[in-house]
Formats: sequence, C-alpha cells, structure tokens
Amino acid sequence: MRSEDQQVFESAVAEIKGEGRYRVFADILRQRGRFPHARLRLENGGYRDIVVWCSNDYLGQGQNEEVLAAAHAAIDAVGAGAGGTRNISGTTSYHVDLERELAALHGKEAALLFTSGYVSNDATLSTIAKLFPDLWIFSDAQNHASMIEGIKRAKCQKRIFRHNDLQHLEAMLNEAPAGAAKLIAFESVYSMDGDTAPIEAICDIARQYGAMTYLDEVHGVGLYGEKGGGVAERDGVMDRVDFIEGTLAKAFGAMGGYVTGPAAAIDAIRSMAPGFIFTTSLAPSIAAAALESVRIVRACPHMRDRLAERAGRLKEKLKDAGLPVMASSTTHIVPVEVGDAALCKQLSDALLYDHGIYVQPINYPTVPRGTERLRITPSPFHDDALMDALVTALQAVWAQFKMQRVA
Ligand code: PLP
Repeated sequence: MRSEDQQVFESAVAEIKGEGRYRVFADILRQRGRFPHARLRLENGGYRDIVVWCSNDYLGQGQNEEVLAAAHAAIDAVGAGAGGTRNISGTTSYHVDLERELAALHGKEAALLFTSGYVSNDATLSTIAKLFPDLWIFSDAQNHASMIEGIKRAKCQKRIFRHNDLQHLEAMLNEAPAGAAKLIAFESVYSMDGDTAPIEAICDIARQYGAMTYLDEVHGVGLYGEKGGGVAERDGVMDRVDFIEGTLAKAFGAMGGYVTGPAAAIDAIRSMAPGFIFTTSLAPSIAAAALESVRIVRACPHMRDRLAERAGRLKEKLKDAGLPVMASSTTHIVPVEVGDAALCKQLSDALLYDHGIYVQPINYPTVPRGTERLRITPSPFHDDALMDALVTALQAVWAQFKMQRVA
C-alpha cells in the first residue's frame, strides 16, 4: 500500500479518536447457564467477572438449556454448516420449519429467512424497490441503518418523515402521484430511545393513501403481544401490516433475520434478492436453536411479564437515585442520558473496570451527537440485588465525573 493510502486510513481513525468516540470492544466470555454473568479478558490475559447490562439477548434465551439442547441435537444429527446457499443444497428441514413457525407467529402467509436482521432489511427493501419502478418509499427519520442502506440502494423516490410525526408523513405522501406505488417503512420499538411507533395510525394513513407498510419488529418480537408477535400483536394490528421483519438474535437468543408477509411477495423476494440468493444459509444448529426458542417464547407469556416488571423496577430505582433515565422510554429499553461522547466512554470504562458492570457507550453515528447515552437492557434474570449494585455503581461514577443528578 502507498504511504498516502495508509494515511487515509490512519486519519479516518484519528478523527474518530479526536471526537472521543473510538470504539474499543470488550472481550468477554458469556457463561453458560449464568446469564447475565460473564468474564472480561484483561490486558494481562487474565479474566474478571462482570455483569452484562447491555445485552440484546433480552430474555436470556441464548442460555436456555432447551435451546442449547436443540442446537446440540442438530449438530449431532446433520453436522456443522448448511453446506450451501438455500438454492444449492442449503435448505434443510430446520430452515423450512422455522419459516413456517415465523409466518405463524406474525399471522402471515409466508416467511423468508436471512443470515441477519440487517440483511433482511437491506435485501427486502432494495428488492421491493426493484419490483416497483414507480415506488415511493417513506421512511421514519429514526429507522435503523439496515433499512436506510436498503432504501439508499433502492433507485426510487424516497422521503424521510420526522420521527413518529404523522402529519409530516401525510404531507410527504401528498407529494407522490396518487397512482404511484408507495411503501411506509418504520420500526415498532426504536431501540436507542425505547419509544414505540403509532402502528395503528400509520396503518390508517397507509390505507388512505394506498401505501404498503413495512414494520421492523426487531426489538419487539418475542417481547410484546400475547404470543410474542411484537408490538403489532399487542396493539391488535398485525393483520394490517403488510410486511413484518424481525431478528432471531435478540429475544430469541440465536442469530439470523427474517421477513414475513403475503406469499406472492415473499416468493418474489426469495426469487430476486441477492442478499438472500447468493449467500450460504444459516447453520442448521442455529436454525434449530431459533426454532426451539421461538416455540418456547410463544408459549411463555410470563417471560414477557417478568421483563416488563424488571424494566419498570429498574427505571424506578434509577429515578429514585437521581439518574437521568430518558423520558422517551416506554419499553424494556432503559437509556440514561450523558450528552457527550468522551464522557460517555469514560463512564462506561469506569463502570466496567472499577465496578465489573458492562454497559457500553452509545455514541454517534448510532445516536445524534449531543445525545450520547448509556443504554441499559435489563432481562428477567437481573434481580433486585444486581439492580442495586448497578445503581450504586452508577451513583459512584456520576460523582467521580461530577455529573449532575436530576431531582
Ligand atoms: N433492525 C433494528 C431496528 C436493529 O436495531 C437491528 C440491530 O440491532 C437490526 C435491524 C439488525 O438485526 P441483526 O442484529 O439481526 O442483524
């Protein structure tokens, strides 16, 4: 590499470091059966025990013994990898059964698996745009990067409406020709603020303007609704959303993503999306683990109740301690405001190395500059004693860095 080329890479990183938002990944080992406990590898090669407070394994399903048993059984039965793309020997009964289960979970005709939630959003949105040359996409301003990438690659008209702003959405819909195909893309739970979308109202508007609806339930699936179908199920509007997208990596504790919807649409995406066609399918053991997990989570509403209770309890404890829980959160996600990238990183480091508490800093570009935060995610396994230890540690680092408490 030429030295001037090397320089480009180095200065890109130097700029990020200068802003205090250079990412250093904590090197951890989760401990089987001991969620949320883990071990952190230190610079000297040793390990120390930590408690994870920032995992998206929201229900601890990644450690559920029945889920692990399903993965082990699949490895024993069929081996490690899928051996090919879905089209070339990579479709197994595990994949097919999982797709059926996911379609049923969301009350849709069909489902299609992808290797991640990111790929499912990117591949599906860009493929829908290919199918409709006159498509207009209307995207919530806080949509996840995976939807933004899919929409960017779609060579169609696009409009970004202010977050959850229905009037702005309608104003933008009015810009599009009445006969044009339209699609509104939004999320159910916005994972950095912990707020939710007015799904029913968006569906009403969509009906009025003849728009399709595309809902990302990545942070809602498994966690809301009687069977864990997500916020759309909770709100009784699952059947009014055309496409429901989700992940197997968060509440289900495994890996992979999917989209569900009308059979004809899913068949077209299956037949045309490069992100689906040209990549090896999920390992059977992962599909088996996910399938077992979805079945368990569908049948166990008490997990959802316990998560909601734990999240509510944590918010109370943090507020009582004068810590600035962001008012936006109406869900299981508990963001605590910091407002400065370097400070956010320092707080997170102090929590990890001085108190054995792992909450990673959330900085730009994940959230806008000036809204940096600690994003805390309790689970059914974070008991009162762990919560008290978290609050005590937060109070200590707040004092250490001379941060203001709230009344
Ligand atoms: N959609 C949203 C809203 C997300 O927050 C994420 C990841 O955090 C994704 C999609 C991607 O899902 P996955 O982690 O399965 O790739």
